[in-house]
Amino acid sequence: MASRHDAKIIWTGPSPRGWHRLQLAAECLQKYAWHYEAPKAQVGMSGRPALARGALVHLALAQHYARMRARQQNEPEDEWCEPEEAVELVAKLEGIEEHVLIVLRTFRRYVEFYENDEADFEILGVEEMGSTKIAGKYLLTGRRDLTVRDRSQRVFVWDHKTTSRLTARHKQFYAISGQLLGYGRMARERYGEAYAGMSVNLIELVAKDGERSNFSRVVLERSPNLESRFERIVVDVEEAIERLQASGRPYDDWPKAINELTCFHRYGACEHINRCRYGAGAAVGGNWVWSDQ
Ligand code: SF4
Repeated sequence: MASRHDAKIIWTGPSPRGWHRLQLAAECLQKYAWHYEAPKAQVGMSGRPALARGALVHLALAQHYARMRARQQNEPEDEWCEPEEAVELVAKLEGIEEHVLIVLRTFRRYVEFYENDEADFEILGVEEMGSTKIAGKYLLTGRRDLTVRDRSQRVFVWDHKTTSRLTARHKQFYAISGQLLGYGRMARERYGEAYAGMSVNLIELVAKDGERSNFSRVVLERSPNLESRFERIVVDVEEAIERLQASGRPYDDWPKAINELTCFHRYGACEHINRCRYGAGAAVGGNWVWSDQ
């Protein structure tokens, strides 16, 4: 069914001052500088299948839950574009149409798998922007994928994560994620005692028709030591960035991690690897050694 011509499509991209910049700087200050200090290099999603599919799944889920929220609030759900239509439109705009089939197959299986969501959860927020002040000085923003209240009145924030293969290790990875620790802090400030935790909504992409679907929701274990030191962690990174900015060092001469564990990650090579190896004029992106993980 086609959506209304003025139906809304939700922006699921990064928030203005999110964890991403701190994460890059903590990983490698040169990576931060390539991204935030150098003249902007346009790197689209077309050469990065994991990113493209993840973005489109996020979009489908945002539209799905926005429509669900509207029904729960007795508002017209058709104010929000149908998920399938939104995915097709955005994929066309971004030049990533080759991922539409797998994304929509996954999305439809997800909706079947979690058919009781509407009865089990009250949808409180979809892609809701939050912010917190760190040490009274540094603004940290974050767009929470989904905030729900369960039947016991507990509030959870869900972060959708897509993967080509779901493993038990995923919940360990995310328990140490600064991004999710930041979301937890913002949710505690917003919902107080009712906030019950961060949950990762793990979604394995369904590669072929007839293939078994694999979805899982895991409430993350808290990391009390990291929570109590969160401000210090953020301040350390912000101060490192400020020191380098104040030093006047050229953007291609910031400290470089240069080690195989940082320069190569789960999805392939760092997109700036050629610039580090050959100089600032080298092409960004490319050289992705693993197609998708
Ligand atoms: S290739 Fe390595 S050293 Fe260069 S920006 Fe990326 S992570 Fe840093």
